[in-house]
Amino acid sequence: MGIKGREIVERAGVDVNTLIKLLNQAYCDEWLAYYQYWVGAKIAQGFYSKAVTAELEEHAQEELEHATKLAKRIVELGGTPVLSPTEWLSESTCGYLTPTDKDALAILKQNLQSERCSIEVYNRILERLRGRDPITDHLIRSILADEVEHEDELETFCQPKIKKEMK
Ligand code: FE
Ligand code: FE
Repeated sequence: MGIKGREIVERAGVDVNTLIKLLNQAYCDEWLAYYQYWVGAKIAQGFYSKAVTAELEEHAQEELEHATKLAKRIVELGGTPVLSPTEWLSESTCGYLTPTDKDALAILKQNLQSERCSIEVYNRILERLRGRDPITDHLIRSILADEVEHEDELETFCQPKIKKEMK
């Protein structure tokens, strides 16, 4: 834990334990997002599957990086990242969308839903922080930018007709 690092956040008026809880919920979301992309890439079938697989694999790696960065910040603030995968689902906000169809576009649609959820999650954390913890603020902004990019990539991946239907 960074003792001084935590102190300045507390002094700025942030309830650090609540912040750690929010970061841990996002951390669980990230592991589930990672797995959702990872397994989606393994099972995707159909006309678009080759291109979709590459995109899903890339996103999976980025979700894992988000989890890594969140864990580091949780530890710096004196917290402990959720230690058991059994808690990922119960602690997460966005949950896990089990693929119901192996069709590449169906998988994309489910991932798009999860991305939109995570955009809300990170935006809420930023609203709550109101810039009082510059380090977490910076981290969450960079993750939010990635999630917005993910949403855009998944949307533009689809043909206009499908894109419309996904809204
Ligand atoms: Fe993410
Ligand atoms: Fe994402």
